Amino acid sequence: MYPRPVQKLIDLFVKFPGIGPRQASRFVFYILKNQEIAQELREALEELAGKVKFCSQCFRSVETETLGQVLCSLCLNPKRDPALIAVVEKESDMQNLEKTGAYSGLYHILGGLISPLDENSAKALHLREFFERVKKILQMKSRCEVILATSATSEGDLTAMYIERILTPLKNQYPGLILSRLGRGLSLGSELEYADEITLKNALLNRK
Ligand SMILES: [Zn+2]
Repeated sequence: MYPRPVQKLIDLFVKFPGIGPRQASRFVFYILKNQEIAQELREALEELAGKVKFCSQCFRSVETETLGQVLCSLCLNPKRDPALIAVVEKESDMQNLEKTGAYSGLYHILGGLISPLDENSAKALHLREFFERVKKILQMKSRCEVILATSATSEGDLTAMYIERILTPLKNQYPGLILSRLGRGLSLGSELEYADEITLKNALLNRK
């Protein structure tokens, strides 16, 4: 058995996506051996909690010291089309789409995907906010294009289908609501995170 503080940190790291107990214990012993890393980590975590907020519209992280709601630089950019929204699982997927340089709309970061094994997983996503956002755009502009840009995995597909379903009432009311699905250019089972720029650009241009 490890000393309690060691085990406590291991248990914390194990909660991270993709980290197993062996990797977690390697991290902890590395930190234990390198005091400067431990100090830097403490400072970085403090800054993370104090100076980073999420954009109230798209849920991208923003460095700010403002106490109220914040909008990110993309959402504030007048050159971007606010009635074109790509729905992505996480912020790194958004970064990948940005890198293609082929996209001029905005984003909506869900904060995860729906899992077929966990019926509560939909509740943790920013879906209600998304519905309200699309509704507001339609009320103002009577047109809105939503690109379902989740990965071409079963969870990504399930999430895209779920979003299509919750947008159906709006679609019946507003013919100007267009839904398209990215990922057809991506090979089956591929995660957006690992797609290269050219593949992503093609998937974006050939959305259906
Ligand atoms: Zn934003």
